Amino acid sequence: MRTAYEHLRGEYAHEFEVLLSPDRVIEVAIPVVMDDGSSRVFTGYRSQHNSARGPYKGGIRYHQDVTRDEVMALSAWMSIKTATLDLPLGGGKWGIIVDPKTLSKGELERLSRGWVQKLYKYIGPLDDVPAPDVNTNGEIMSWMVDEYSKLVGHWSPGTFTGKPLSIGGSLGRDTATAQGGFYVLEKYLWEYDSTLKGKSLIIQGAGNAGLNMIELIHKAGALLIGTSDSKTALYDENGLDVEQILMLKKEKKSLTEYVWGKKITNTELLELECDILIPAALENQITEENAKNIRAHLILELANGPVTPLADTILFDRWIHVIPDILANAGGVTVSYFEQVQNNMNYYWSRAEVQEKLKLKMETALDGVLRSAREHNVMLRTGAYIVAMKRILEAMRVRW
Ligand code: NAD
Repeated sequence: MRTAYEHLRGEYAHEFEVLLSPDRVIEVAIPVVMDDGSSRVFTGYRSQHNSARGPYKGGIRYHQDVTRDEVMALSAWMSIKTATLDLPLGGGKWGIIVDPKTLSKGELERLSRGWVQKLYKYIGPLDDVPAPDVNTNGEIMSWMVDEYSKLVGHWSPGTFTGKPLSIGGSLGRDTATAQGGFYVLEKYLWEYDSTLKGKSLIIQGAGNAGLNMIELIHKAGALLIGTSDSKTALYDENGLDVEQILMLKKEKKSLTEYVWGKKITNTELLELECDILIPAALENQITEENAKNIRAHLILELANGPVTPLADTILFDRWIHVIPDILANAGGVTVSYFEQVQNNMNYYWSRAEVQEKLKLKMETALDGVLRSAREHNVMLRTGAYIVAMKRILEAMRVRW
């Protein structure tokens, strides 16, 4: 691993140093008039990491624990993710220090519009294209794109992605993360003369990404033997009742009323024997503490950062392959890119067209990552980093 990085560092010495820091980090104070007439000032950050390959791209996060360092790190991660998929984009991230659950809808809207008023000069379809992330959604994107368009004097849907369909969102964006991960998984198995049919799967986190993945693997003939949400984890070696799980999450928002199967803890869930484990909940779930107990043969990281770097090494030594997040969950940013392309053309694709294009992107990216990992004899994550960094460093080189 070190050799490949050192090689890149040697070949692109100047560009490599530049890539280590964001191009720009902006800190803003956003004043908001609260419903009771008082004023509060919220702190927000925008980190624009690298745009050598195209406009900065990355989500907007509303969370009380947001820090400047976290936003900077996540923006670098986005540069790597967009380059792994060979999207003509760079990496960025926004964050506001706020617990949105403590705000009324009106306060949230004023905060979101206030944020755009402070930053609109730095964003735009050719410069920086934000999207939803933790605690932000299509409604917030609608307020933001409206505010931006008023400030620049023309309708500009391509400035934000993750918008509702009625104002230029893309068909297929709602399921893109799981769909992209599914295409990667199918192609990966195909490389080893295998398919999902009859495979036993565990999916941690039956949320947006996880639940869509459950539907997809079920349709492909795999057996879901375990899943979880924040309240409970379920296990049945003969296969869980997927219809019941989908119904419970839709109508009750929780798995606690699931009948049959066994109720276990999330810790136990991760350590069960299965063919494929898909962490789709939170970061830092597989660490140096439990990596030695993992009994899955393959891990697909649908969540961001579920396997820590130390756990990665333990799993690699145990021959458990990990398809890394920067590839496995990049379906979301890929369809975000498609959304922007459609906005800029003012011409929209069908769901089938979006999925066909997504499949091609995901499979091509997997091919590149597999080739790189084999060539350098490294884990898939390192293989992906090498592919991505080479693309960014080369773009920087030819532009200078
Ligand atoms: P979500 O909030 O819809 O779902 C998260 C799920 O995890 C929920 O079911 C929640 O109950 C469960 N959960 C929470 N804490 C848990 C715990 N301690 N143990 C087990 N389950 C727990 O979020 P999401 O959008 O599905 O995102 C999930 C992960 O995928 C995150 O890491 C996110 O960054 C990543 N991701 C999502 C997208 C996307 O488009 N949704 C894109 C890229 C990456």
